[in-house]
Amino acid sequence: DSSSGSSGFFSKRTFPGRVPAGIGRKSLRIVVTGGAGFVGSHLVDKLISRGDEVIVIDNFFTGRKENLVHLFGNPRFELIRHDVVEPILLEVDQIYHLACPASPVHYKYNPSNVMGTLNMLGLAKRVGARFLLTSTSEVYGDPLEHPQKETYWGNVNPIGERSCYDEGKRTAETLTMDYHRGADVEVRIARIFNTYGPRMCLDDGRVVGNFVAQVIRKQPMTVYGDGKQTRSFQYVSDLVDGLVALMEGEHVGPFNLGNPGEFTMLELAEVVKETIDSSATIEFKPNTADDPHKRKPDISKAKELLNWEPRISLREGLPLMVNDFRNRILNGDEGKGL
Ligand code: NAD
Ligand code: UDP
Ligand code: UDP
Repeated sequence: DSSSGSSGFFSKRTFPGRVPAGIGRKSLRIVVTGGAGFVGSHLVDKLISRGDEVIVIDNFFTGRKENLVHLFGNPRFELIRHDVVEPILLEVDQIYHLACPASPVHYKYNPSNVMGTLNMLGLAKRVGARFLLTSTSEVYGDPLEHPQKETYWGNVNPIGERSCYDEGKRTAETLTMDYHRGADVEVRIARIFNTYGPRMCLDDGRVVGNFVAQVIRKQPMTVYGDGKQTRSFQYVSDLVDGLVALMEGEHVGPFNLGNPGEFTMLELAEVVKETIDSSATIEFKPNTADDPHKRKPDISKAKELLNWEPRISLREGLPLMVNDFRNRILNGDEGKGL
């Protein structure tokens, strides 16, 4: 309840205003949980470059210090090694909550979605910060509606192998709305569709990263199942623009943030081949359980209310991640954290 925190250790406090960031806009103090990860580090870059103060909370489960090393020494940047399943006290204006084991290889080991989200909502409530949850298109499960609109409730197996991720995010959305309705916390919910770009975790099982790394290593691309399942791939800078537009806007959401361009895995393999190496090959492997057959966002709501839409097509975006992957593979710098 919203009054319970008024006297104890986590009681509501005020904190000094920020130094102005420039004409007409106060500099904000912003927490990004999971900020050492793929999406988080790009978001941090954008927030720092527009003049805000950023605190990253990350336990380096899949994130890497290298993703942020260019910001070390910047007085507006701070990095805290911390697991969000434990409470934390900070005084901030906005919370972008991204921390989460987000790939099939990792998420089954750490159902941290729920506790981490609860703590960050508790923090938002105490300091009066605005809270943004990065949910996922996986809340739609193996969708029976195509493309998916935000009004669709989804088709999720509650006891399957990927349930801790899907259901964890669904619970995180529920908690977010409960804190909004019950404790008046200002919240925003993004449902992110498959995203790719530089700094993606190598070898974490996500398809774009797998295919690009495999072709650079001169290995065949592993197509799971018959390769006719579809996904819609969004370049990371488009996503970051959408997250900021959502945080700054007046609407709670949920909002689909994704690129509606839809590709089968065989088509994706073809684009990777054209982009990196025309001699690349594919091999078929058995598919994972409960793999959604198709996925494509309906983004009319974000277009209309956030004035946002992706700008970078798959053919434009893929080449932008190849150098980063090549360098990391050549340097053997494939670590899962430091
Ligand atoms: P990522 O694995 O690169 O980043 C996640 C970050 O969270 C990592 O830095 C990791 O170390 C950190 N983390 C994990 N558990 C933590 C914990 N308990 N405490 C503190 N830090 C923790 O993944 P990403 O692709 O950047 O995903 C970011 C967010 O976006 C996630 O919430 C994910 O569910 C969501 N999302 C991503 C995609 C995508 O395609 N990339 C799609 C849908 C949703
Ligand atoms: N919390 C936190 N930082 C804060 C305030 C709260 O980590 O600044 C955690 C707190 O430990 C609790 C969770 O957020 O586990 C939910 O907090 P809330 O105040 O909503 O719940 P309560 O403590 O009243 O059960
Ligand atoms: N996939 C594939 N080869 C791989 C990795 C994944 O064909 O090496 C397929 C996977 O079966 C799924 C699609 O690519 O149909 C997207 O998988 P990913 O794990 O990237 O994202 P998600 O399933 O969460 O959308």
